[in-house]
Amino acid sequence: MLKILLLTALVVFNINAKDNLSKYEEIAKKIFKHAHKDSSAWDRMAYICDNYGHRISGSKHLENAIAHIEKELIKDGFQNVVKEPVMVPNWIRGEADCKMTSPWEYEIPILALGASVSTPENGIEAEIIMVKDFDDLEKKSKEVKGKIVVYNRAFTNYGQTVQYRLHGAARAAKHGAVASLIRSVTPFYDANPHTGISYYDDEIEKIPHAAISLEAIDILQRLTDQGKKIKIYMKLTSHYGEDMLSHNVMGELVGKELPKDIVAAGGHIDSWDVGQGAHDDAGPCVAVWEAVKLLKELNLVPKRTIRVVFWTNEESGLQGGTQYAEKHKDEPHHGLLEFDSGVFNPVAVGYSGNEGYFEAFKKYESVFSLINPKFQIKQGGGGADIGPMMKLGYTGMGLVVDSEQEYWRYHHSANDTVDKVDKKILNDCIAATALALYIYADLDIIE
Ligand SMILES: [Zn+2]
Repeated sequence: MLKILLLTALVVFNINAKDNLSKYEEIAKKIFKHAHKDSSAWDRMAYICDNYGHRISGSKHLENAIAHIEKELIKDGFQNVVKEPVMVPNWIRGEADCKMTSPWEYEIPILALGASVSTPENGIEAEIIMVKDFDDLEKKSKEVKGKIVVYNRAFTNYGQTVQYRLHGAARAAKHGAVASLIRSVTPFYDANPHTGISYYDDEIEKIPHAAISLEAIDILQRLTDQGKKIKIYMKLTSHYGEDMLSHNVMGELVGKELPKDIVAAGGHIDSWDVGQGAHDDAGPCVAVWEAVKLLKELNLVPKRTIRVVFWTNEESGLQGGTQYAEKHKDEPHHGLLEFDSGVFNPVAVGYSGNEGYFEAFKKYESVFSLINPKFQIKQGGGGADIGPMMKLGYTGMGLVVDSEQEYWRYHHSANDTVDKVDKKILNDCIAATALALYIYADLDIIE
């Protein structure tokens, strides 16, 4: 019902667009200047990452960071600050050991993939079978039984390459593999494996599943190409503990004309348990937070309420986003914006949803030229945490950045530390987010 109502709200009139354009141009200048006044946003991000560490679901680190953010939101003067309980899965990485034992002994950098089961207590030692992709696996399916499948799927784009991380174990186990290893989902050689969530098929046996470094997989490939028989020993102690209590935490800048209309915006406060989760997603979370704080400081209060949300458990179960939708689905959301693509130059707001709002919003695209002359408000956008609300028919947006492939250097690896986040670019992201949220929450729309 709700979906039908929202989708039929297509006929909208945008009044005073011209007057607003010059007003927003002035506002953009103020926002840009304020966003670049110092590096306090970067300091705030670094404080969280340095004091609480990485923030995997189920960990004390995560809850300590959330408690800190709640306090800081109150200190900043946000309204209606709340912490909403969310039960989250609690996957424990444990220890990992991996070495090639034949034809010679070589220690392989390894990271268990999220949700992986452990090996037997004494580990597994088995011959490996290298495959290039799922088609290659099917071709070689008769040779798989009793072996460790090693997926050497080169990085093309994230969406395609991540399939081996997500489903590699189930596909290999179907043919009797005892474990599976993937080439880390990145185009970069830096000796560090990259982790991330994976899934099993309930009908098929669960086998240990891990990522290894690109350097290591290349060695295995070259030896395989020479016809060498390769054996690997691997031991993982990863497993699930009891579900744990976590929280979404949020605070508001209450709108001055339509306070019940919500524009929710944020990122995910959980991270993987390697590196510091700076690009993914502390930096973007802080960017949205500071964007709304900046609007407050400049007394730029839009018509509708902007709610900053730090969703929990995006990386390993999406319970934060799922439970947000369950709890808030009946509150009128004018739209939701997520920033979860790393702190790089902002180039667009990607938009999916109500066409009328889109047309009204796009009229102000030129206002962003101060941040980036080519900045776009374009079709197609959203985010994982706001996905459950988008499925209910709400408009979703994502801040789009220009990272080319750089993001994948840091993503879910030990490389994702605060020093990799550029202070000026973070401030640009804050300016773009503040402007997008202000204009979108302030749209003159008569339905
Ligand atoms: Zn993320």
